[in-house]
Amino acid sequence: MQDELFTHQASSFAATRKDALAQLDAFIPFAGRYARDRNHVIPSHTNVSKLSPAIRHRLILESECAAAPLRRYAASTVEKFTQEVYWRRYWKSWLSLRPQIWTQYLNELTALQNDPAQETIRSRAARCEGGESPIAIMNHFARELVETGYLHNHARMWFAGWWIHIERLPWQLGADFFLRHLLDGDPASNTLSWRWVAGLQTPGKTYLPRRSNLEKYLPPDVLKTHHEGLEILEHPQALILPADERPAITRPSLPPTASLHAGKIGIWIHEEDLLIEQSPLRSLNPKSIIATRDTATWKRFRYPKVKITWLQTAIDDGAKRASNAFGIEAKVSGDASIAEALLRCDTKGLHRNWRSRMVD
Ligand SMILES: Cc1cc2nc3c(=O)[nH]c(=O)nc-3n(C[C@H](O)[C@H](O)[C@H](O)COP(=O)(O)OP(=O)(O)OC[C@H]3O[C@@H](n4cnc5c(N)ncnc54)[C@H](O)[C@@H]3O)c2cc1C
Repeated sequence: MQDELFTHQASSFAATRKDALAQLDAFIPFAGRYARDRNHVIPSHTNVSKLSPAIRHRLILESECAAAPLRRYAASTVEKFTQEVYWRRYWKSWLSLRPQIWTQYLNELTALQNDPAQETIRSRAARCEGGESPIAIMNHFARELVETGYLHNHARMWFAGWWIHIERLPWQLGADFFLRHLLDGDPASNTLSWRWVAGLQTPGKTYLPRRSNLEKYLPPDVLKTHHEGLEILEHPQALILPADERPAITRPSLPPTASLHAGKIGIWIHEEDLLIEQSPLRSLNPKSIIATRDTATWKRFRYPKVKITWLQTAIDDGAKRASNAFGIEAKVSGDASIAEALLRCDTKGLHRNWRSRMVD
């Protein structure tokens, strides 16, 4: 049943480059009021771009999103939007330099999911995910996330703050709930935002959901319908988690690009970058292109059908554009592990080449 608090569905989020560019165009008239309106959580979410799934999978580039409003407004008018677009890149770079934070999160999550001693915690978390908590508005947000694959940024902050500081559930289970359902689910933006709400990312700073803040940024009729339990948010107290050790920085070593031009070349398209024809690989002359659906990861993180359908459309779109750009067919593989798919991708000579590259 459609909740009156949201009017969109997963299918309203652009899953092709053409739709993402059209969605960006349609957002431009609202960009001038973004700084004033962005924190208000209204059912249509027309005060924000809703481009995050397309940006996250690179159907559209951050630089395109930042440049488009500047064709109509002064930089100072749309500064807030530009800043938000580049927050994403900041989180991405921060985590790339400290990959151990992601590994640590996965290890902690696995322990929480499998330890028999955590059974009570898991059941409480499952009730919150299923919209069976004492706070009606949080139940609504859980439903919106599951049904549409999206939540407004302010709703994400309220929900995460409630989960951690009021329900006192482990942040890792909440982050997993978000990553599983969000169409824009991203290891960097999601993990680091949850850590920020928990007070781990900026030590000493936590985010608390307060009733007065919800009353300010949600329409009154929405709060009237979802008022049960709001009193619980009147005087929230922060849970203070032990601070991490300051994570060490690891600088990745990148291969020299010149070596990419040697020998026969195959291009692998995956959901991390669906705009390969505008990437540094665009000057290559590939003999083969394969686009993979990472079904093993989707299964591991228990992605729901809504998200898998969106990803499949986006990957097919990336493959089609790559095919047009490079002038060769792009095969889409979805029924094998990525390694198997890559090894099988060309039987006419690339096979050995792929194998040696993977062994390297
Ligand atoms: C607990 C929590 C979890 C989050 N998980 C994710 C996630 O998995 N993936 C994700 O893309 N964003 C995440 N965010 C950030 C933010 O909520 C979403 O990017 C934003 O709500 C997407 O909606 P939009 O496209 O309409 O944003 P707009 O307001 O239109 O902003 C434009 C673009 O800027 C970027 N952006 C905006 N706000 C942020 C922010 N606070 N941090 C980083 N980038 C931002 C996004 O790419 C977004 O599409 C999370 C935030 C919180 C508090």
